[in-house]
Amino acid sequence: MERISGIGVSPGIVVGRVFVLDDERRRIPRRSIKPNQVDKQLKRLFSAIEVSAKDLEQVREQAERDIGKEAAKIFGFHVGMLRDTVLTGSIEKLIREELVTAEHAVDRVFNDFAERFGAMPDSAFTTKVNDITDLSSRVLTHLVGEHGTSLADIEDGAIVVASELTPSQTVGFDREKVVAIATDFGGKTSHTSIVARALSIPAVVGLRSLSEKLCDGDIVIVDGGRGVVVIDPDDDTIEHYLSEEVVRGQQQMTLREMASLEPVTTDGFRIEVLGNIEFAQEVEHVLEFGGEGVGLYRTEFLYLASEREPTEQEHYEAYKACVDELKGKPLTIRTMDLGADKYTQAQARNPERNPALGLRSIRYCLKNLPLFKRQLRAILRASADGPMKLMLPLVTSVEEVRQAKHLIHDVMEDLADDGLAYDENLPIGIMIEVPSAALMAPALAREVDFFSVGTNDLVQYTLAVDRTNENVADLFSPAHPAVLKLVRDVVRAGRRREVPVSCCGEAAGDIEFAALLLGLGVRTLSVSPGNVPGIKRLVRSISIDRCERLAKKAISFDSDTQVSMYVRDRIRKILPEAYDNVGSR
Ligand code: PEP
Ligand code: MG
Repeated sequence: MERISGIGVSPGIVVGRVFVLDDERRRIPRRSIKPNQVDKQLKRLFSAIEVSAKDLEQVREQAERDIGKEAAKIFGFHVGMLRDTVLTGSIEKLIREELVTAEHAVDRVFNDFAERFGAMPDSAFTTKVNDITDLSSRVLTHLVGEHGTSLADIEDGAIVVASELTPSQTVGFDREKVVAIATDFGGKTSHTSIVARALSIPAVVGLRSLSEKLCDGDIVIVDGGRGVVVIDPDDDTIEHYLSEEVVRGQQQMTLREMASLEPVTTDGFRIEVLGNIEFAQEVEHVLEFGGEGVGLYRTEFLYLASEREPTEQEHYEAYKACVDELKGKPLTIRTMDLGADKYTQAQARNPERNPALGLRSIRYCLKNLPLFKRQLRAILRASADGPMKLMLPLVTSVEEVRQAKHLIHDVMEDLADDGLAYDENLPIGIMIEVPSAALMAPALAREVDFFSVGTNDLVQYTLAVDRTNENVADLFSPAHPAVLKLVRDVVRAGRRREVPVSCCGEAAGDIEFAALLLGLGVRTLSVSPGNVPGIKRLVRSISIDRCERLAKKAISFDSDTQVSMYVRDRIRKILPEAYDNVGSR
């Protein structure tokens, strides 16, 4: 039994069997086979080798025509290596003796060869390492496809273990099949973690080399609240964790009673508690948990869940579905926030050197006008059907807002020409996610109808901490006085021009940070649906007067540690029941 600590990002305790979802760039997991499957694996092996050799013959013929016989000889050498019985014999032996899949045997044998060649003193041999790596990936592509182990191979009730998952991979998980997630990399506010929470799949990230320790079928416990994975647990440990999950379930039920109650502070301030969604279907969860509408719809997931760009009609149908389900409750649609860790297929093929500082969000939209206009048309059409707001992500300057507003008005004119209805007074707002936007809030307030603070990115860009990197996860601190000061100034700038300020970053769902936000003057919180009841409980237990004193003191500290300790101490006294649960506040 071994206990490994990571970062808990989606609560819940699950015991189950591991499915290692490999990443072709890293490794092919060891997967065991039964003795009666050896022949099938050998057949797969030899057919992959044969197809690879044929591919190479073609490459050689083409190269002979293009670059001449002499230079093309290298490909003949590659074919020879592939058919070399020393190599194929070693792979076959491994499959037969160790009962492993063909891909695992190929990966290991080729790696061994590469290591041996690499260690030879003669440079003629060391240069062959690249040839071997290339041959290995050619054969592996024929064995397992471009992306290694496929999601289609997952069996029901699996705990997916991977070095890293993209948000789009996670979106593709079937909730019936995938009961928990554990990854080597990642942070609490990375979009993969946000999606895991949205799908209510218990998840732990930042477990470093966990995926290398595990094989398919291994038994593990995933505790997504505490951020722990237990490998090969004994019966007592399993029983202990399962009983904790029962207690957690009961606590959640009690908390759910908050769902139907009004979020009014003890001194009578009405707070608006909304939900964040990634998919139209989540509106139902928001309402179940007591959310009063949607404060952030991350529409980019329409792209991430599909291989191709959605059509205008597909956009429209998704937005219309939300409006209908909300039955008059408000919906804030954020225009697509693609880029950084939410990349499209085309961006995956041409990765940027520093994507978090690259062509993402509003910048991407303003450089891809037909794509942006398609989405704007759909949003505007849906705005005719119910109360809606349009929000622009990652704004860094006044010019960006003006450009986007100009486009929105162009699209409105087009719709009018086409005789299609839209809300002429659709409120247009922006996210405050970078220090430049926070600092320019007085000027931006003249341009827009509302602000929404996105702490996930605001913290990342203010503190220079990659939100997806587990190595700096301890430095990702919304309670940092620098962040609090930016939020305070944004609220002040908003108030001066009657521009309401909400917060829709993940931190708004944390009771300690939420109390600070209330103290800084934020009156609308938009949080993951599961956090709505907890935030309502906080609001109903505290006064704005108290929150203001808390925030004033917090902002006077010069370190995030002091802020966190102080706020935890105070909130624990006000809401002790939030702290005696099993791993999720
Ligand atoms: C944020 O940055 O806080 C935010 C809500 O946007 P996202 O998490 O989608 O980047
Ligand atoms: Mg953001």
